[in-house]
Amino acid sequence: VPTVAVVGRPNVGKSTLVNRILGRRAAVVQDQPGVTRDRIAYDAEWAGKNFSLVDTGGWEPDADGIGAAIAAQAELAMRTSDVIVFVLDARVGVTAADEQAVRILHRAKKPVILVANKADSEKQEADIAELWSLGLGQPRPLSALHGRGAGDLLDDIVEAFPEEPTGSLKEEGPHRIALVGRPNVGKSSLLNKLAGSARSVVDDAAGTTVDPVDSIVTIDDEDWTLVDTAGIRKRVKFASGAEYYASLRTQAAIESAEVAIVLLDASEPLSEQDQRVISQAVEAGRALVLAFNKWDLVDEDRRYYLEKEIDRELAQVAWAPRVNISALTGRSVQKMAIAARTALEGWTQRITTGELNKWISDLQAATPHPGRSGKIPKVLFASQVGIEPPRFVLFTTGPFDKQYQRFITRRLREDFGFTGSPIDLVIKPRE
Ligand code: GDP
Repeated sequence: VPTVAVVGRPNVGKSTLVNRILGRRAAVVQDQPGVTRDRIAYDAEWAGKNFSLVDTGGWEPDADGIGAAIAAQAELAMRTSDVIVFVLDARVGVTAADEQAVRILHRAKKPVILVANKADSEKQEADIAELWSLGLGQPRPLSALHGRGAGDLLDDIVEAFPEEPTGSLKEEGPHRIALVGRPNVGKSSLLNKLAGSARSVVDDAAGTTVDPVDSIVTIDDEDWTLVDTAGIRKRVKFASGAEYYASLRTQAAIESAEVAIVLLDASEPLSEQDQRVISQAVEAGRALVLAFNKWDLVDEDRRYYLEKEIDRELAQVAWAPRVNISALTGRSVQKMAIAARTALEGWTQRITTGELNKWISDLQAATPHPGRSGKIPKVLFASQVGIEPPRFVLFTTGPFDKQYQRFITRRLREDFGFTGSPIDLVIKPRE
């Protein structure tokens, strides 16, 4: 379904608007991977059209200030949604932080709907006309609180939906890979190494002058789309908030990809920053490959310690394929393609309902859930409800311990593979 992102400074009324759009219906938070606490996605509907409404309200400004936070919001919304609703406060007018967001939104290839909220009186509607000067088209006055203008706004939003929503990764063309990792692991070196075959994705949005962000490269005789390579190539540096910004950029790249290849520096100890990038990929529910770069610098000694580090620190992602490469010499770079293909297979793998239920009943017979006050919680019915990543729902007689859930996930991997993919397990206890 199409995704609508609501962007704006704190306190301009984003959440009120979101509640208004969702109406009286209970706000259903989509419990799908990739929805982090920073961005809450709701299932919404208007005029018979379903869409996903993303509230970026959770992004409170950090030390770098409101400007950096809102700029990052706008940037991420541009990458991951189909329609952007930019909200400002009609009573306050345009602030410096708003202007920062506007500059970024001018580059958007997606429709941007400019909303002047808190337009609670007719008089304010006159002031709102000035907002034409922002260059984002017609400003829509709204009183999210009283609901004035909400219906018209929703009509405009629905009208702006594209035929092919961004969120569905079923885009035409080669599989999409995000090349991510902390600074200096060798991303741009690797990109250069692959550049022999790199060509830009033709920017088919007519009349725009946006940098093509993705590249198509050939690895191991197959074409791949490397997403957001502009970010790697240009080494965007911001005076403040560089790290915060880089992390959002990584998030955006991961979310527009099917497979995340996390580059690690094999010549140095794994860092917390490495772990963060890996978690981002896992939490986004993407297929994962770990590429240990700078392998040319790894000697016997280092190799010994690296193996220990991997056992100790990467146990949570032991299911991810690993490749040892050198962006400098080109060593084994083509193996990344083999690993990515394997991860994609795991990410899209399905088990039939019959097979799954047989398997789970055998598993419980052999190793039942520990008893709880004389009763043993059991699975009544199991179903794989989705792929990309594989998602399982277990209807049970009672709550399941975290530990037993981990046990099921581990055994699923042992018996069926799912190499390179997170597994999403949902327990639905009977009321
Ligand atoms: P990025 O910040 O992730 O894009 O990292 P760069 O590509 O700029 O690489 C950071 C540094 O590591 C540069 O000095 C590169 O020359 C070096 N480097 C990258 N890959 C390799 C490699 O495979 N082997 C060695 N020895 N050095 C590398």
